[in-house]
Amino acid sequence: MARLYDSRKRILVTGGAGFIGSHLIDRLLHQGHEIICVDNLFTGTKRNIDHLHNHARVEFMRHDVTFPLYVEVDEIYNLACPASPVHYQHDPVQTTKTSVHGAINMLGLAKRLKCKIFQASTSEVYGDPVVHPQTEEYWGNVNPIGARSCYDEGKRCAETLFFDYHRQHKLEIKVARIFNTYGPRMHHADGRVVSNFIVQALQGDPITIFGDGSQTRSFCYVDDLVEGFIRLMESGPEITGPVNLGNPGEFTIRELAEKVIAMTGSKSDLVFRDLPEDDPKQRQPDVSKAKELLDWEPKIALGEGLERTINYFAGRLTELTATQ
Ligand code: NAD
Ligand code: UDP
Ligand code: UDP
Repeated sequence: MARLYDSRKRILVTGGAGFIGSHLIDRLLHQGHEIICVDNLFTGTKRNIDHLHNHARVEFMRHDVTFPLYVEVDEIYNLACPASPVHYQHDPVQTTKTSVHGAINMLGLAKRLKCKIFQASTSEVYGDPVVHPQTEEYWGNVNPIGARSCYDEGKRCAETLFFDYHRQHKLEIKVARIFNTYGPRMHHADGRVVSNFIVQALQGDPITIFGDGSQTRSFCYVDDLVEGFIRLMESGPEITGPVNLGNPGEFTIRELAEKVIAMTGSKSDLVFRDLPEDDPKQRQPDVSKAKELLDWEPKIALGEGLERTINYFAGRLTELTATQ
């Protein structure tokens, strides 16, 4: 499409009012681009993009990606989908529709516009992995009929669609497999482990460890992740992904709880609850491919990222208390 300024692109971000999407938008605006943010506000909130209200280069559209969308853009980042187990299991049929119908609509849009399209896929495509750490070559160990399947299988089918549009319609695709990501603007009540532990510690409530806390996760700070998104989108057309993006530092959930307690100086106790169905026992990305292809690796260690996130939640809890 004809552009006013050569380097300025009009970029569609679906799920742009969510946690990761809002950080991506900040970064793309900083680069000088124009943004169309599409979100149905299911888990996202206008609060995440409030600071962009009246911004000359941002347009917000309340829209559900399971329905067709006709806009004119140069690039698409497809992030729309609830990411927390509590949210994606709330209406599992809608979760699958969002991943699958949402992907079809966004791919149809990219096909009409002949533009690049990025997919926010997930480490959940590996399920409860029997290969550790997970490389992109591993096909995964996913239960197709369990409580997490709407998300895992929805995202797997979306990847299939991306690769079939690439093969069949020659679309330029960029598929990132994102591992657990945290940072400011996570929803304080979405049930994810980092937000739960920080909020519980700051409020002096018991820290809820599911199972015995020996399961592992690898936590990536959101700024590192967004840098990876941009490098993948700007890479040559031969790079389709899937590319793992995450921080290979692996911690048990119990270690995370103890770190959060130490950093907040909290007096919270640890309490143990039942492990949710199909909860993966371990997860750690192998990011060699991202290093080799994108010259990317995470720079922000867990301690530094947690400090920024704790500061954010301390402010957020003060706001929430003031409005009660
Ligand atoms: P989030 O819930 O904060 O953001 C998702 C956004 O998508 C929300 O703003 C929500 O309102 C919107 N949305 C949901 N369904 C929609 C629909 N049908 N139409 C339009 N908008 C819709 O989650 P997040 O952590 O920012 O995740 C963003 C993306 O990254 C998701 O696709 C998620 O699957 C993926 N991802 C996230 C993580 C993580 O650790 N946060 C890990 C792996 C993958
Ligand atoms: N679509 C869209 N916006 C567009 C073009 C297509 O939302 O600008 C949606 C439309 O719902 C369509 C889907 O994308 O059904 C897939 O498009 P495609 O061209 O691949 O297939 P079609 O179903 O049109 O044969
Ligand atoms: N978890 C926990 N306490 C909580 C929330 C989560 O022990 O209050 C555990 C959960 O069972 C899982 C891990 O922390 O083993 C990460 O959970 P999250 O929902 O953040 O992400 P995912 O399971 O999708 O990786």
